[in-house]
Amino acid sequence: MIIGIPENSDFSIHNIPFGIFETSNKSPRAGVAIGEYIIDLAELSDYGVFDFETSVLKKETLNDFISLGKAITSKVRIDIQSWLQDTSSVLAKHSELFIRQSSAKMRIPIRIGDYTDFYSSEEHATNIGKMFRDPKNALLPNWKHIPVGYHGRASSIVVSGTPIHRPIGQTKPKEDQPPVYGPTKRLDFELEVGFITGKNTMLGQSVPIDLAEEYIFGLVLLNDWSARDIQKWEYVPLGPFLAKNFASHISPWIVTLEALNAFRIPGPDQTPDVLPYLKSIGEKNYDIQLEVSITPEGSEEENICHSNYKYMYWNMAQQLAHHTVNGCNINVGDLYGSGTISGKDESSYGSMLELTWMGTKPIQMKDRSTRTFIKDGDTVTMRGYGEKNGLRVGFGEVSAKVLASK
Ligand code: MN
Repeated sequence: MIIGIPENSDFSIHNIPFGIFETSNKSPRAGVAIGEYIIDLAELSDYGVFDFETSVLKKETLNDFISLGKAITSKVRIDIQSWLQDTSSVLAKHSELFIRQSSAKMRIPIRIGDYTDFYSSEEHATNIGKMFRDPKNALLPNWKHIPVGYHGRASSIVVSGTPIHRPIGQTKPKEDQPPVYGPTKRLDFELEVGFITGKNTMLGQSVPIDLAEEYIFGLVLLNDWSARDIQKWEYVPLGPFLAKNFASHISPWIVTLEALNAFRIPGPDQTPDVLPYLKSIGEKNYDIQLEVSITPEGSEEENICHSNYKYMYWNMAQQLAHHTVNGCNINVGDLYGSGTISGKDESSYGSMLELTWMGTKPIQMKDRSTRTFIKDGDTVTMRGYGEKNGLRVGFGEVSAKVLASK
């Protein structure tokens, strides 16, 4: 290795995730993360090491680079891996191509055209069903037949580090009183993983399940913020709206599907049998450890949840096959959220709604404060990584501070 990588770094040589960064004297451009550094792909391309039109590396988003296709984007990743191990490579000769991550600002890596959010964790859907409907019939009849989802809002998706204001809206705190207007009292996070598509389809075309992963460029962590009191009042009959569209955060580095190959595992047994277009073959779930912490204003960061992406009932290939079965076209840079990822254990629930069971079981924090939902001044941070036989591939983090309402 031509540079040192800290042990337990998310950005090991096995990872090489793509992002867009800028510094005080560099305009936004493509880079890859390695250890504590970013390799400047725009500047690297000036040495003539790539055999594609490299202007795509000098843009403010990765969409055009991703559009080149996996044959090219995968080769960039593999080339960098080999150059990092070659003491006579272009990277070894040009230390100025390495920029400290601490001196760079990450930008949102893609121009997101469309955002869809699924609801694919059985434990999460069951918990919500128990709380809001019937504990005996928590899952709705369609849930094990359809990867349920809704169309979200792309304009308000921002990159990790962007503070948000507590949203204001309409709620109905008392059954027998009219609705009221004001800041949400039940601001929540949703621990999710998002995938980004890397190929377009034409209107009318479907993505067959066995080809679905070819259409997926990579994954990010996603905090799909929710205002539970607004949601409860507005969601009937058409589903999520203003309780969801005020902001969602993604992590800045896109971890490619190839980098996560080592963490593939079989998904859960699906009973009843799914329809043929949703029949998934092979290992299409991923063992990625996930965690959430809260840092209260002026206090220490505290972990409140450990979950895992492997808990998904419906995998990405099934989600994409279902999404396009009717001929809905997709584009490079679309984002698809997993839905809140909860496990069986109470400490693995991926939202405050579940962790505190609708606010009935407050979390005791180390600074002696308690939490039912997220308070002003709180910073919510999510992390994720796969680790196996000493090999680690991680996402870094998605983190954001909540400010008081405007
Ligand atoms: Mn969600």
